[in-house]
Amino acid sequence: MSKPRVAILGLGIMGGGMAGRLLSAGLSVAVYNRNPDKAVPFAHAGAFVAGSPREAASHAEIIISMVADDVASKGVWLGENGALAGAARGSVLIESSTLTVGWIKELRAAAAQRGLEFLDAPVTGTKPHAASGELLFLVGGSASALATAQPIFSVLGRETVHLGPSGSGALMKLINNFMCGVQAASFAEAVSLIEAGGLDRARAESILMNGAPGSGIVKRAAASAAANDYTPNFKLRLMAKDLGYAIEEASHRGLALKTADSALSLFKQAMARGYGDEDFSAVVKAPLQK
Ligand code: NAP
Repeated sequence: MSKPRVAILGLGIMGGGMAGRLLSAGLSVAVYNRNPDKAVPFAHAGAFVAGSPREAASHAEIIISMVADDVASKGVWLGENGALAGAARGSVLIESSTLTVGWIKELRAAAAQRGLEFLDAPVTGTKPHAASGELLFLVGGSASALATAQPIFSVLGRETVHLGPSGSGALMKLINNFMCGVQAASFAEAVSLIEAGGLDRARAESILMNGAPGSGIVKRAAASAAANDYTPNFKLRLMAKDLGYAIEEASHRGLALKTADSALSLFKQAMARGYGDEDFSAVVKAPLQK
């Protein structure tokens, strides 16, 4: 399979970037989005716009879902006119959304029942990386399915890491993102303390950003806050979703993610203030409660 046809289910910030990247690489791409308006620009760029996930899947050998959460994933794969019903034998189903391991395992079992190969392959990287083919894919599933999908991962990503059996990619991604959420929340608290303590904010932040606390995610949050621009690359409500999913995964294994718990409460406060569809960095605007 040198140039497989690809279906992208979900044309949000990430799925839209990925579909655009595949089209610019000259691949045959079928797209589906719940809100059909988002598919219009992709039709102009040469994509086949499907009316359902099932129809999109029937036009592809590699079928990638990039949607918000477990509920959305269930809908696009197993709902009425879901992609599983349209996928031909031999095609590879790829779930790239950030989801729970429990749901990934259910989905893998449903795919196996129909004789279909399945990979969980969530990504790190954000809007610009999706559009420019610089994602990192965290893959769970069989080596043979990965080998079939690799040519497409190579167009979309800078690297593919095979972490183990089904669900391994999903778990790794939740661990990655809960640490990101915790660091962003700690930056929000640091800003509150800087301001309450009367320090010069720019100078204080410069010390943090150029020192040990200045991780990639903290630097991103600080840059958005400095520009007062919370246009989403990664929506705040999706970071909250990931913190919640990570807490759930840990709890299934008898662990308590206490830092994630407190970060999630700050993200929930930000959502209650209406910042859910802004960038995750808008957590700096959430008030702290004693
Ligand atoms: P987004 O811009 O909010 O897009 C979400 C997509 O999911 C849209 O296509 C939306 O369709 C669809 N969707 C939501 N609920 C649905 C439902 N019930 N049924 C069918 N479709 C539904 O989000 P995103 O940033 O692209 O993120 C997509 C996934 O990638 C998420 O799991 C996220 O956590 C993960 N992720 C994001 C980033 C990032 O930096 N943005 C990075 C890594 C991973 P409509 O247009 O119809 O609403």
